[in-house]
Amino acid sequence: GLQCGIVGLPNVGKSTLFNCLSNARAQAANFPFCTIEPNVGVITVPDERLTKLTELVSPQRVVPNVIEIVDIAGLVKGASKGEGLGNQFLGNIRATNAIIHVLRCFDDDNVIHVDGSVDPIRDKEIIDTELQLKDLDSVEKKLQKVEKAAKTGDKEAKKAFDVLTAYREHLLSGKSARTAQVAEEDQEYIEDLWLLTAKPVMYVCNVGESDVNTGNAYVEKVREAVKEENAEVLIISAQIESEIAQMDTYEERQMFLDDLGLEQSGVTKLIKAAYRLLNLATYFTAGVQEVRAWTINEGFTAPQAAGVIHTDFEKGFIRAEVIKYADFVKYGSEAACKEAGKLSVEGKTYVVEDGDIMHFRFNV
Ligand code: GDP
Repeated sequence: GLQCGIVGLPNVGKSTLFNCLSNARAQAANFPFCTIEPNVGVITVPDERLTKLTELVSPQRVVPNVIEIVDIAGLVKGASKGEGLGNQFLGNIRATNAIIHVLRCFDDDNVIHVDGSVDPIRDKEIIDTELQLKDLDSVEKKLQKVEKAAKTGDKEAKKAFDVLTAYREHLLSGKSARTAQVAEEDQEYIEDLWLLTAKPVMYVCNVGESDVNTGNAYVEKVREAVKEENAEVLIISAQIESEIAQMDTYEERQMFLDDLGLEQSGVTKLIKAAYRLLNLATYFTAGVQEVRAWTINEGFTAPQAAGVIHTDFEKGFIRAEVIKYADFVKYGSEAACKEAGKLSVEGKTYVVEDGDIMHFRFNV
């Protein structure tokens, strides 16, 4: 499955958040979670459209999208040099598809900070530096491999050498691979390196209870520091989330959120943002047996989307019948959409749009 890794210095609130995610009671009724390893959880992605389709179709079964969240503990200064099992944790990050970087933005004298004071910008730089050093290592190793061929005139090797050198300079200047100005087609030269700092990132500012609506000065500093990165900055209070996780009923949780002036829990916000971060799209199948959300990449064609259900669907693809989500809601059923001329028949080149309700026809 697709994985988001939670990273951050010790004591910033990572485990608290992970535990809230893993606590099914923290969530709306239909919100299963299972822990596959102590630090890996499979989490349902909340999607109002799926809820709406379920109301309309009343299927026997509903299957939502899921993503995996990994709590990557133990990143400390020196991790790239193997401090504190550093290399092992960095290896865990390599396996993820995106990074959730938690920053401590709350004051609390009872919670020790590893560096003695609350400073999310410094914290972020410590983590970034470790990841960048690790990436520098990977880039330099590959540079050594291609250097000889590049110097003897091999054109492809020369190109690889130049691109890798650009990444090397960028990393050496204390920046992450994701912000390097490298042409899209040239990024293939680093793809095999699975660079840690090339993965998409979002920042979660963990604030005290009273700052959850407004943020605080720490959050403003974070926003300022990451403004070039084009990354989402979420404000969450892990403390509030763990209080919500203690509550038994949906009504109780909803009332608590209302009192705080929050529309949804931080956990819900976080999962939705993580799904966005992975740059995925969703299509639905909506039959009486099963209403289901399917995860695809942006730009998938109809046969590729069918292949997510089963490889045979892709191989034997004939056509797809497509209903737009808004039409399905407006007319209420597949039959009604068909009658209203809102069911379109699409071929192999159709690019599936987020929210499409698909019905595939195929040969077996
Ligand atoms: P991790 O090392 O990043 O996984 O941090 P933990 O989740 O274990 O949290 C470290 C300590 O900070 C624990 O004692 C938490 O109860 C506390 N903590 C976490 N989030 C908050 C918060 O939002 N506010 C306050 N005051 N304490 C928090």
